[in-house]
Order: sequence, then structure tokens, then C-alpha cells
Amino acid sequence: MSMRITRPLVVVTNREPYVDEKTRTGIRVVQKAGGVVSALDPLLRESGGDWVAWGSGSADRQTAPGGIRPVPLKDPKYRLHRIYLTPEEVNGYYNRYANQGLWPLSHMLIERAQFSRQAWSIYRSVNLKFARKVARESQPGALVFSHDYQLAVLPSLLRQLRPDVSIAHFWHIPWPAFTVYRLCPQYQELLRGLLGADVLGFQTPDDVEAFLTAVERTFRSVPVDRSNHRIPWQGRTIEVRAFPISVDIEDIEQLVRTPRVSRLAQGIRRHLAADGRVLGVSVDRADYTKGIIPRLEALEEFFTRYPHRRGEVNFLQVVVPTRSEVQAYRLLYRQVEDTTRRINEAFGTDDWQPVTTIRRSLDRPRLMALFRAADFALVSSLFDGMNLVAKEFVSAQVDRQGVLILSETAGAAQELESALSISPWDPEGFAATLEEAVSMPPEERVRRMDDMRLQIHQNTLYDWVQAILTTLQEVAGTYVQS
Ligand code: UDP
Repeated sequence: MSMRITRPLVVVTNREPYVDEKTRTGIRVVQKAGGVVSALDPLLRESGGDWVAWGSGSADRQTAPGGIRPVPLKDPKYRLHRIYLTPEEVNGYYNRYANQGLWPLSHMLIERAQFSRQAWSIYRSVNLKFARKVARESQPGALVFSHDYQLAVLPSLLRQLRPDVSIAHFWHIPWPAFTVYRLCPQYQELLRGLLGADVLGFQTPDDVEAFLTAVERTFRSVPVDRSNHRIPWQGRTIEVRAFPISVDIEDIEQLVRTPRVSRLAQGIRRHLAADGRVLGVSVDRADYTKGIIPRLEALEEFFTRYPHRRGEVNFLQVVVPTRSEVQAYRLLYRQVEDTTRRINEAFGTDDWQPVTTIRRSLDRPRLMALFRAADFALVSSLFDGMNLVAKEFVSAQVDRQGVLILSETAGAAQELESALSISPWDPEGFAATLEEAVSMPPEERVRRMDDMRLQIHQNTLYDWVQAILTTLQEVAGTYVQS
């Protein structure tokens, strides 16, 4: 990616782009895949700069003398600054306040949200730790690009320490309706925290509207400019904008066309889509926001209502264990296993099992092969900031024959309008849509897939980074057209 960065860049995330783990024979570098790393790691390698994150790997201290881990280790291009947290800090900041409080609240699943002043105090102090590190490491006038719900109060804490830097903060998850948001006991402090930024990014226009409403309702004297999405705040003007995150579609297209991934895809089809069988897939972390149980219930409804589809449709679910320190996640995992077993027992025959489960994370080639091989993909999130899986499936569909079934409450649905839309709360409608997908004529599949592929080509992962950093540079008064 070539874009002109006119000032030193500092990226701040909870998770680090490279985790160093001890092994029996030495040290293994684990690269964290995901949108932010895929977009910003190449940019920092090209333009230099700093990345500040929680050092969570067992060998992290060893590879980072003075807290600085060169990236890459040989021939370094940028510096990764690691922040070390105690187990109490990880629990209070990450497991409790962020994952048991802000995560369900933001996805409007308020029954699951738990807050406590003790967890809040740890969350805030860890945000301060991050802010101090960024303040120490940033060069004068730096551009700081910070991320997500783990670091909501970082922007204002950093601004107090370093008024010279310009800050963009991107909120990767949904922003909830105000009636829900204000149930958080610290909602005012969180808003003040975020308003320390110069640019606030959200996934969708709906999230932007909901955020502006929260500011208007909380600080009634602040004249929020709703038509330009600007907030005057403490002598500054904050830009609030939707920047829908995306994927590197060209990279995925190249990958799925390699002989290795093509062979993997053919293997999957031989195994699960032979003899006229149809293959449906889903890929999620085992998170209750992903609607895994409603999806299984819709499948149950589908095989009940359309018995001629038994034996004909194979469904492969990749369910990746996640956040297992939190009880709700362990319970969900068990519930997924139980529901899957029930469906397989109810409908399975001697030579056909309706649902096959992969219980681990797949590497990128295997995942993309699966997306290329599938006849349809199911994304059934209850709420979702974006859902990159939906965009990856479309990107991998170079043969354009697949159908995307997409929850209307995933951020991706606001762009991918040619997907078949479902509500995870409507099992009968969901089952009918599955039938529509399975019986869709080839011309319609191609037309819909072409629409969605064009959409992603027009807004790739690099367009996302470019739009945010360009806005930040404009606000900072440093933008130079290249
Ligand atoms: N992913 C992966 N291996 C897996 C399952 C998922 O690499 O086995 C990746 C997937 O390709 C996607 C990301 O994890 O890029 C999930 O992002 P998404 O926005 O769909 O959901 P999130 O997990 O961030 O809520």
C-alpha cells in the first residue's frame, strides 16, 4: 500500500501483532491475523513508526529488551512497545470490564452485561498505563491510531499527557442505542474518554447516529452538528465518521487460485459436496453474539419443513473456542455441542450427517479453500460490528456460484445488499431463506455475487486505512495530497 504519512505514526491496540511464545526448542513467533494487523503491519513496515500493545506471549519479555520488540526481529522496520499486565489487570480490564461489560452492552445483550466499580477502576488504570506508554514513545505531533472497546478512555488520558498529538480512535463493534448504552454505570466517563480523540470511526452510519445521540443526550449543552457529524468539544472539533472495515480481496483472490488452495477446495468438495450434495458453511468464534444456536435451530426447522433436503444438504460449522476464561463462553460452547448432537441424531442416517463441526481455528489457506468450496455461507449474528467472514466468503468466491445468507443486523449487511437477508430471531423465515439459497438458479447466484464482489473491490481494507488516516491528517492540518 502506498499512502503518504506526513507525521510519525503510532498504532495502539489491545492485542499485539506479533506474540512470542516459548516452546521446548526455543521461541515461536505467532503472527496475529485479522484486519487491523493485515492493514497496519505493512504500512508501518513501509513508513516506520511505533505500535503499542499488551505483551501477552510467554517469551515476550525475552524478545523485547527495554520493552521494545523490533519488527521484524532481523532487519527491523518498526518498534513494537509491549505493556505487561498482571493477572489481576488482565482479569479486571480485559475479561471483566471489556468482555463481560462493554462487549455484551455494545451488542445490546444487556442481560449478559456485568459491571463493577472495581473492574472499572482496573480498566481505567490499564488505559492510563497504555496512555503513559504512548505519551512516552510518541514523537512531537505524532498521529496516533488507537482501537476498540478495550481502550475507550485512552484518547482523553493521552490528550491530557500529550496535547500535541492527533488521535483517531476506531470502534470495531456496534454502538448501542442510547436507552441501552446508558445502563452502563460509567457511560459518561466512557464518552468523555472517547471524546479525547480528533477522529472517531465506527463501522456503519447507524453506529455514527447512535453515538451522536449518546453525546447529545448525555451532554445536553453540546451543540452536536448532526448534518456534518461533528462535535464541538473543549475547544476542538471532533469528526465522527463511518469507515466500514473490509478485506484485501485481491490477496484472497490470488490465494484461492493458487494450486494448493484450489486442490484443498476440490478435496473439500469431493468429501462434502459429491453426488449432487450441497455444502453450506459457517465460521465463527464461539461467541453468543454470532447467533450459532439460532442458526442450528433454523437448520432444524429447514430439515423439518423440507424433508426432501435431508441427505442432500451438508452443513459444516467451524466453531473456534474463544474467551474460555469467561463462564458464559464455556456454557455456550457446550450448548452448541448439545444442539448439534440433537440435530444429527434427529435427522442423520447411516450415510449422512447433517452437521459436521470443526472445533478449532483454521489457517488462512484452509479457511479460504472452504469459502471457495462452499455452495452457501451462513452468517447469522445477533449483532455484529461488521463481520469479516461475510466479506471473506464473497472475496473467495471467484467462481461466483456461492450464495451468502447474511443477518440483517451484521454491519456487513449495510454494504452487501445482494446477500440473502435473514433475521436470526425468525427461525421459520431463516429456514425458508435456506431453501431459497439451495434452489437459487445459477444466473441469479452469479448476479448477486458479482454485485457483492464489486462492492468489496470498491472498498478494500486499504481504502479503510487510507480513509481514516487521511481524515486524521486533514484534521491535524498535515495532509499533503500525494
Ligand atoms: N478466522 C480465522 N480462522 C478461523 C476462523 C476465523 O482466521 O478458523 C478469522 C476470519 O478469517 C476473520 C476473523 O477471524 O478474519 C473473524 O472476524 P469477524 O469480523 O468475522 O468476527 P470477530 O471474530 O472479529 O467477531
